[in-house]
Amino acid sequence: MLKLIDLKLDSILVSLQIVSKLDPDYICIPLEANTIINVKNKDKVAIGQKLTDQDIYAPISGKVENLELVDTYLKKMYALKIRNDFKETNINTQKKINSQKITKKDLQETLSNFNFAFDKPNLIINAIDDEYQYTQSFYLLDNYENILDLLERMATLLKIKIILALRENNQENINNLLTYRGMYPSIQIKIVPNLYLLGNDYCLQNFLQIEEANVLKVSQIYELDSYLKTKRESRDLYITISGNNVLNPCVINTYKGVSLNYLLENIKLVNQESDIYINSLLQGKKVNKDNFIITGDVKSILIQKKESLKKEERCLNCGACLNICPVNINPLLFKDQKYLAKVKDKCLKCGLCSYICPAYINFNKYLEEEEIDAL
Ligand code: SF4
Ligand code: SF4
Repeated sequence: MLKLIDLKLDSILVSLQIVSKLDPDYICIPLEANTIINVKNKDKVAIGQKLTDQDIYAPISGKVENLELVDTYLKKMYALKIRNDFKETNINTQKKINSQKITKKDLQETLSNFNFAFDKPNLIINAIDDEYQYTQSFYLLDNYENILDLLERMATLLKIKIILALRENNQENINNLLTYRGMYPSIQIKIVPNLYLLGNDYCLQNFLQIEEANVLKVSQIYELDSYLKTKRESRDLYITISGNNVLNPCVINTYKGVSLNYLLENIKLVNQESDIYINSLLQGKKVNKDNFIITGDVKSILIQKKESLKKEERCLNCGACLNICPVNINPLLFKDQKYLAKVKDKCLKCGLCSYICPAYINFNKYLEEEEIDAL
């Protein structure tokens, strides 16, 4: 059984209103190397227009500008920039289909892109957010009917049992589900305690002790819904903005490809100096906000008061890192390259070993193959 932890983080008051930020001056679409671009500088594009040889479509209408080098969560990339003309010209006149029209063949074809194992009789939907995030909860809250209609359809067509896992403090979603329970008879609700790392699919499945199951996050069901109904990925996403330097924490619905600076425009700060983390403190990473572009892998933005980083000290051999690890890895052995290679895939990158360490040792550096001398 995994060790799960009550992190006792300061609770953050998040307004239950979702803030829409859908009027950016421009969008940057990061492109992988060797992508063939179908448009050129100054071309006018409409929403839904195919922009490259890959499945990349314009999320806004406007004019194409030069390629720009931008920072994304994973790496620096060249991005195609589109200046918004705010005309919302849309070439996509096709009407969205209703969940009831989705066929088994559609589902099977689309789910194969989500690494879905068709021989497993259960599907766990992970609606749990770890740390200072509310993103999965808000995907569900804001798209409640679409998501549950699709899940009910999946249960019928694929003959699977669906288990929707929610954290016990996710009161609004729990109330909705209990109110409309009769409309979705195939969806079983599991309410889980407020323990760290249940937002991780592997940990959740292990906690629920359901062996033969696929696990998908609510955000993936949202994407699946978009693929099934429009034949392309969604152009928008939800992101939690919170942290001890934020006066108005919120969940923002915005387009993929907007700049981080645009998202932060109406965020009120306690102090002007901040440290910004993408995808939270323990599992995410610190970024520089200038030139940073939001991609589909961004789930939250944590804005903390600027603090001088605690300097790493020598290891005290207290064993806390070893005891806290949910998958029984010994981080003290990370300096041994052979051991590191053996456990690297097993490591959940949960950050608990660094969180607990009284000597402030940052084990992420080992996992990213940087050398440190504290051990
Ligand atoms: S990050 Fe640390 S605590 Fe978490 S799984 Fe990896 S070694 Fe264990
Ligand atoms: S690395 Fe940190 S937590 Fe682990 S034994 Fe050393 S001092 Fe303790």
